[in-house]
Amino acid sequence: MTDNVVIIGGGIAGLSLAYHLHQLNIPYELYEKEERVGGINRSEVIAGCIFDYAPRLFLLKDQYATDLTVELLGENVHFLPFGDWSYHRKYNVYTRLPFQKHMYGIPLHAVVRNLFGFLGTKLPNGKEPESYQDWLYQNLGKPVADMIIAQESKKWKHDPVTMDYRWAPARVPIPAFKEMLRGALTNTKHERNFGYTITGGIEALMKAFASRLHESRIHVGATLTSIDTTERRIRFNNGDTASYQKLVSTMPLPILIERLTGVPEEIRETATQLKYISLKIAAIVVNRDDVSEKNFIYVHDPEYIFHRVSIMSNLSDEIAPPGRSALVVEITYIDEPPLEDSALLQRVIHDLIDMQLLRKDDEILGMEMMHLPIAYPMPTPDRIDSVEKIRQYLESNDIYLLGRFGEWEYVNMHDIIPRARDLSVRLEQIYELPA
Ligand SMILES: Cc1cc2nc3c(=O)[nH]c(=O)nc-3n(C[C@H](O)[C@H](O)[C@H](O)COP(=O)(O)OP(=O)(O)OC[C@H]3O[C@@H](n4cnc5c(N)ncnc54)[C@H](O)[C@@H]3O)c2cc1C
Repeated sequence: MTDNVVIIGGGIAGLSLAYHLHQLNIPYELYEKEERVGGINRSEVIAGCIFDYAPRLFLLKDQYATDLTVELLGENVHFLPFGDWSYHRKYNVYTRLPFQKHMYGIPLHAVVRNLFGFLGTKLPNGKEPESYQDWLYQNLGKPVADMIIAQESKKWKHDPVTMDYRWAPARVPIPAFKEMLRGALTNTKHERNFGYTITGGIEALMKAFASRLHESRIHVGATLTSIDTTERRIRFNNGDTASYQKLVSTMPLPILIERLTGVPEEIRETATQLKYISLKIAAIVVNRDDVSEKNFIYVHDPEYIFHRVSIMSNLSDEIAPPGRSALVVEITYIDEPPLEDSALLQRVIHDLIDMQLLRKDDEILGMEMMHLPIAYPMPTPDRIDSVEKIRQYLESNDIYLLGRFGEWEYVNMHDIIPRARDLSVRLEQIYELPA
């Protein structure tokens, strides 16, 4: 038996686990299929501007994750007010997010309808929600829920009636009536701040993690192709092989199961039920720096092909050279993108002009399509049970799961970092020291 913990994947899950194992002096080897680590938290330079695969913010929801991020980045982090908005084409107005706390700006009759709808939810109901839609109706009332459903359907490409609700309480705030009323009648400011790097985009954090590890233990350009659980042997596409005492996978769970030998049919079948959505990300650079003072704009109207526009260049002065704006536009899809890349980029520009974010005479200095083939694990109703069943089978074979795609869960960086710490402690407890 080898004395290593082998980690598959060099995104934030793999890197932060390696970081914690390193602190505990547990030997590890990390294998990453791309030529550089970072996973979906890499950043690219396009027309002199830095682009994430849609901005990755430090959401400050977990103190441990925030402290570690700040420690790793040192001077290279700053904090900004959120600045996220929802665009309502019907009224040609923007409201701050979350909409349920900031309705100021929409016509009074719509505000009154929303408030009455919300008050109706205060009647005793007592029924377990059957879906995400049901949960929204129960907690926010139909008029506000319908507005959120329009936004969510656009992003998830699924009707919220087909989605599990159990992830929502951690992500969708339910205001008190007083708070809702205040945000409807007065122009209340964004309450939250977020953190972001000053230079280098989100990849700077990935580099900071990697800089704390032994370079010789990070193997890039190595795609896992098969795992023999009896021999505890892994094969990679570049001819490398590795043995493991414990294996931690952060690669997409359904693909991991396909590459395991001797998996029971029931587990294989369960893994085929795990669904996801994909993301195209249009990166656009224009020749003026005043496109918008907003950071993130959520767009629920079906007329527009995208569900979110972010102004990357508002996140730090070092994202774009003077006189340029860097825009990131997100389009989700299932199976096939709505258009091929060049047509999709043209459509995005058309819609940005229609929204009056871009002008017809703006000079486009750079425009590229970025792609995340697996971006969001779908919160399907059977996801939690399916993942648990697969997890139990894998752990009985000394294989552990971590990360958004490893655990097949809609989690963010601040969820993953403490889970990596906890898994390192767990591995320390069960790790068999070499004789
Ligand atoms: C559009 C979008 C916006 C987001 N915004 C935020 C945000 O603002 N704040 C926040 O905290 N989080 C955000 N997130 C979530 C956050 O980016 C993820 O939770 C996190 O980056 C996932 O990291 P990971 O290591 O689990 O996965 P990944 O980054 O995907 O890492 C997995 C790694 O495994 C590698 N791999 C895959 N297959 C193999 C194989 N066969 N062999 C070897 N290696 C393999 C991959 O190349 C990859 O490097 C966002 C996500 C998206 C999609």
